[in-house]
Amino acid sequence: MILEGKKYAELINNETKEILKELNEKSIYPCLAVVVVGNDHASAVYVRNKKRVLDNLGISNMDVVLPENISKEELEKKLNELSNNKVVTSILLQLPLPEHLKEDTNEIMSHICSEKDVDGFTAENIGNLDLYKNVIAPCTPAGIIKMLKYENVEIDGKHVVIVGRSNIVGKPLAKLFLRENATVTICHSYTKDLRKFTSDADILIAAVGKANFITADMVKEDSIVIDVGINRVNGKLVGDVDFEHVKEKVEMITPVPGGVGKITTAMLAYNVVRYI
Ligand code: NAP
Repeated sequence: MILEGKKYAELINNETKEILKELNEKSIYPCLAVVVVGNDHASAVYVRNKKRVLDNLGISNMDVVLPENISKEELEKKLNELSNNKVVTSILLQLPLPEHLKEDTNEIMSHICSEKDVDGFTAENIGNLDLYKNVIAPCTPAGIIKMLKYENVEIDGKHVVIVGRSNIVGKPLAKLFLRENATVTICHSYTKDLRKFTSDADILIAAVGKANFITADMVKEDSIVIDVGINRVNGKLVGDVDFEHVKEKVEMITPVPGGVGKITTAMLAYNVVRYI
């Protein structure tokens, strides 16, 4: 079974519409500030896709475009202003930041007030994810769990193997799967004998950023494979999973493009209305 992102994005969007309607009836109008620093091409494409979904759902959003050479202090000041702006209910800081700011990303993030941190990337929200159930979770991990729930996939007691330990995908996803009572293994570039782990996974998540990295011999028969990776090869988007071969062996698999990416974008809109 191919897990088409479009189907789950629509289901998430329906939930978002319902919540938005309830908010509007109470005269509450969510508004997302989208902060973009510089003019990175890939970021521009992601932002355009995000804004298209928000516009289609009727969620107000504003662009905050800042120059590539902005200083750390100026950017932090802008984020403080947006945090104090009563019209703005959520803030998204598009990552990655330009090279001179990259190292300070976490510190810069901390200037977004946690209630408006739509991506769940601030230290407080990362901690909250450990402590509480109903909190902002990063869009990609939260969307993956939602997709599995829509499909009534049993997660309890399953061995979930996540390849990748980033702060935006691997680590928060591990927390969410733990909450669902899975047994979770996180692998990374220092993992010895990766195949030993991946081939034991009931649910395998690839979040590596290397084209066709997970091959058919690395997956278990009838397992579920979720491909988070987005890689550009000869102008074409491909995932971290060798889709054509792996799909023959497993029970469920997400495609790239048209899989997790679409779900992530829908989850952003959901987070804008859900945590207001
Ligand atoms: P990241 O921060 O670059 O992390 C990559 C992870 O992969 C790291 O933990 C790294 O290990 C691990 N890794 C690298 N080589 C490995 C190897 N040979 N064996 C095992 N693990 C290895 O990436 P990210 O931000 O999580 O993103 C991962 C991919 O997902 C990228 O392609 C990104 O574009 C995509 N993405 C997609 C969405 C979506 O909406 N679909 C959202 C976010 C990200 P170390 O920690 O040891 O370096």
